[in-house]
Amino acid sequence: MKITGIRVYQVDLPLNKPYWLSGGRLKFEKLDSTIVAVDTDAGITGWGEGCPWGVTYLPAFGGGIRAGVAELAPPLLGQNPLHLEQINRIMDLSLPGHPYIKSPIDMACWDILGKHTGLPLYSLLGGKYQESVPLHSSVSTDTPQGMVQRVRDYRKQGYKIHSAKVGGSDVDDDIERIRLLLEDCPAGDTITFDVNRAWLPSEAIAVMNATQDSRAFFEQPCETLDQCRQVRELTRHNIIIDESIQSFEDLLLAQRHNVAQAIGLKVGRVGGLTKAKMMRDFCVATGIKMNIEDTGGSAISDTAVIHLALATPAEFDRATWDCSQHHSVLTATGGYTKENGKAAVSDRSGLGIEPVVDVLGEPVAVYSF
Ligand code: MG
Repeated sequence: MKITGIRVYQVDLPLNKPYWLSGGRLKFEKLDSTIVAVDTDAGITGWGEGCPWGVTYLPAFGGGIRAGVAELAPPLLGQNPLHLEQINRIMDLSLPGHPYIKSPIDMACWDILGKHTGLPLYSLLGGKYQESVPLHSSVSTDTPQGMVQRVRDYRKQGYKIHSAKVGGSDVDDDIERIRLLLEDCPAGDTITFDVNRAWLPSEAIAVMNATQDSRAFFEQPCETLDQCRQVRELTRHNIIIDESIQSFEDLLLAQRHNVAQAIGLKVGRVGGLTKAKMMRDFCVATGIKMNIEDTGGSAISDTAVIHLALATPAEFDRATWDCSQHHSVLTATGGYTKENGKAAVSDRSGLGIEPVVDVLGEPVAVYSF
């Protein structure tokens, strides 16, 4: 089988309401998603999606994906999309770094492999360990009372794992937010306080030691892995490392320095499903829990990460964030379904999705023989 063409679509995803993170330091109102179709001489087309969370969350932006695909398309045309490791090697040699650009192409090749073999992605990624996987809520920075109300709304929908964005410039405000959210948290629920790198180690240590609670996880409290390690050594809370895990080497470092009791395994950030699967397997081998998700997107990337989460032993799969909870743009049908705070996929081959052509519009770029 050969890749005969790559089509690129751009879709805006306006958020249902503005979203603040990193203690209100960063605001988001619309995401810029890139959807990629990889066509083959076998008549099979695979679909993938890449969508950074705005331009300030990571060194990644929507236009970067489209510019990068222009560089990657020539060396990929004529290659066998079923040979996923080789496809990744070609992408890494043709354009070193820039992992987020490669993820939608890699995702589309997995979709092709699934359609070619007649297997759903979860079978190819390890087999289905669970019928459905837990989703976690995602609560924007707000007043303490506003955040409590938002978590309650999610709880009514069945969510038991919550992610609340903290990390303001005022340490006392953060302590109040965290205490109020924990006071309102029933047994059996857990809350991730996602700091998105906003605290200095001294602030992280102060807040975390003032809010000791076994139901609390703190995610990416500081900018760098080394700063997070300082915090880990001087506090007793579980830490989730998210933004600092961009490569396999980052994961090795986090594991070696005892700083990752859990990680945010974001498929787009690490370069696609192929690399995420490798990291997932390492986490399973070394006892690291994961939030398996993407950096943003719609039904296509949300469905892809839910396949990977379903194919992960339940005790390692903490929860998945579906970006579609924040917007109303349906780029594909047949994707994951959601009930009671949990997500499931169909048994159709590949991703099991059908793109909605009216939503995608015309391609913004086409590369072909
Ligand atoms: Mg995070």
